[in-house]
Amino acid sequence: MSNPLRSLAARITLLVSAATVLSSLTVSWVSVESLDGFLRQKVDQRFPQVASRIVHELDQWYALREREVEVFAGSAILTESAPQLDARGRRGDRARDEAEQYLRYVLESFPQFERLVITTAEGRTQLEVGQGQALPADFLAANTKPAEHTRISSSFRHGNHLSQIASTPMRDGDHRTIAHLYALIDMSHLDAMLKSGELGDSANVYIVDQDQHFLNPPVGIAPETTWTDSQTEQEHAMAVAYYEDLLGEEVIGTSLPFPRFDWTLVIEQPYDEAFAPILSSMSRVVGLNLAIVLSVGLLAFRIAGSIVKPLKALSDAASRLTHGEREVEIEIEESVHGTEEVHLLTKTFNEMSRGLGRSARALEENQQEIEKANQELVAKNEELSNVNLVLEQLSITDGLTKLHNHRYFQDAILAESKRATRTGDPLCLVLIDIDYFKKWNDRLGHAGGDEILRRIAEVLNIACRETDLLARYGGEEFALLAIDTDLPGAAALGEKIRQTVEESDLLSDVPSEQESVTISVGVAAYADDRMQLFTDADAALYAAKDAGRNRVIVARPSTDGSHIEPREHAD
Ligand code: GH3
Ligand code: MG
Ligand code: MG
Repeated sequence: MSNPLRSLAARITLLVSAATVLSSLTVSWVSVESLDGFLRQKVDQRFPQVASRIVHELDQWYALREREVEVFAGSAILTESAPQLDARGRRGDRARDEAEQYLRYVLESFPQFERLVITTAEGRTQLEVGQGQALPADFLAANTKPAEHTRISSSFRHGNHLSQIASTPMRDGDHRTIAHLYALIDMSHLDAMLKSGELGDSANVYIVDQDQHFLNPPVGIAPETTWTDSQTEQEHAMAVAYYEDLLGEEVIGTSLPFPRFDWTLVIEQPYDEAFAPILSSMSRVVGLNLAIVLSVGLLAFRIAGSIVKPLKALSDAASRLTHGEREVEIEIEESVHGTEEVHLLTKTFNEMSRGLGRSARALEENQQEIEKANQELVAKNEELSNVNLVLEQLSITDGLTKLHNHRYFQDAILAESKRATRTGDPLCLVLIDIDYFKKWNDRLGHAGGDEILRRIAEVLNIACRETDLLARYGGEEFALLAIDTDLPGAAALGEKIRQTVEESDLLSDVPSEQESVTISVGVAAYADDRMQLFTDADAALYAAKDAGRNRVIVARPSTDGSHIEPREHAD
């Protein structure tokens, strides 16, 4: 199986997807980073702002309570009745009733106060109004030397809830302290102030008292748990810190001192809540990225597929062409979704394929024609060589007797004489002439003469050896070249021929003829002179005629070697 990653479509898809993932991740990272920076800047600004606002409001609130207590203490009813309370200290007294009535009226009108106590200047309780428990004796004892100015104590646990006490001196017309007014402050009214509001519900505002205990401990934290300043690890005042709160949760927080009571205001918000926009934007970004990558990948895959599909069709078609298929056509639909270039390539391929097909057909037709012409040529050639063979045969053959002709004999004697000169082998020439042939022509007619020529040729052919070369040399003359034969051998051959002709009954079919056809024969030996050989043989032949015909004369070389001495052959 081929590796799917080697496919062009898969590679393009992978590349495009990777590029998209990379770029979108980069953009996401940059945007998350800047969003984070933006949020941190916001938090850094807003936490201290909220903290100082709350501290300011708290201060205002307590200042207002001081003013209120001072106003109560300075009221004429109380300042007038106070000395009398001190003097008599009896119930049912009118002044006492008025004072008590006044204090009840104050409690009803100012719900921030839950109890009011008037003590003597020395600190002895004279009048106490309000619901709930009485003010702790030890607390008041600790205040037997009350301050000369209005003040508010730090917090303390009173019953099952926290309280504070505001105290102020009561003075007569001479500005002498005649009594003290104590007011128990209901701290539950602070709760409304300890809401961050603008930081959202997830932000918590705590107050840590001078003993480092929470006035309003977080849910799950015991009231006696100690809070340390190092908790927020602030680099500087009003700075925002990132840390784990007492429950181990990641929080962002800041703390601000509230010097009035040596308290500390702490604002905390879970990290996740503060940076919720990042988380939600990150999940949006991831989702968006995923969608972008998926759609871009799909698009890339489709585009790559539209290129690869026609390319594959082209490759398949080219392969079919290679395997000899003709005029392979690619469906234009296969590439119609591809690019214009691929479409053009497909069209060009189809044209090329058609062109190839046409060329192949033309080539095939041409080849057939050439083959046909070739066959014709071969046949003609064969015919021609046959004719040539016949012609050649004709050119060296005598038509009447079918013996070699004069020309052939001349060529042969030239070659053989050279060979004899080279090897020193003997070579003899035998010339034959029919006796009184004119007479036979006259008697039997020209055709009869021809017949005699044919029959004598047959007889001569049978009489001589394979190696001997026989030819019709002239009209009724024959020549015989006896190869590798000496003069006596040639003379014997001449005699044998003469005898055979004489004894053959050549004219047996002509009953009127009693005479037999005879020949005269001249024999000569070759002695390195071809012309001389002819001259000698011719001379011997004439000598035979002269001597009465029907005989063989052998030319014998003269003693000086210049001419011959014809001599009749005798067995
Ligand atoms: P001799 O004995 O002296 O040779 O007498 P001869 O008659 O044979 O004289 P010669 O050799 O001179 O004559 C040759 C004659 O042969 C002349 C010619 O008419 C005849 N002849 C030559 N060629 C042919 C041929 O092809 N056919 C026929 N029928 N006659 C031929
Ligand atoms: Mg003759
Ligand atoms: Mg003759």
